[in-house]
Amino acid sequence: MVLMVLGEDEVKARSLVARTAGGLRRMGLAMLEQLYPPVCDACGAPLAEGGGLCASCFTQLRPITPPFCPVLGLPFETDEGVGMLSAEAIADPPPFGRARAALAYGEMVGTLVSRLKYGDRVELATFAGG
Ligand SMILES: [Zn+2]
Repeated sequence: MVLMVLGEDEVKARSLVARTAGGLRRMGLAMLEQLYPPVCDACGAPLAEGGGLCASCFTQLRPITPPFCPVLGLPFETDEGVGMLSAEAIADPPPFGRARAALAYGEMVGTLVSRLKYGDRVELATFAGG
């Protein structure tokens, strides 16, 4: 373990460097947003700030909420009670105990997943993981 004792001047210098670096980073991001204005990850519509989806695309997402199969995570139309498995999980039991998806697979989700997997759009991993 190494302990360093910084003098007051050194602390001030490091603080100035950190503030300058933060300012340059913000300026760089602002310049990037001028060159490449933020757009919706799904449809390409302009966004006011940041990345993600526009309101129209966001409303098309269908989150999977209970009731669903406790093994495959497939959504049920009606609540069949705790522990009720889907027909798919009964007919062909998977080698895993439990799987979950946050969203029902649809055209837009498929597009986003394809762009992440095959389109070199690694920034979509933030959206997919979040
Ligand atoms: Zn959109």
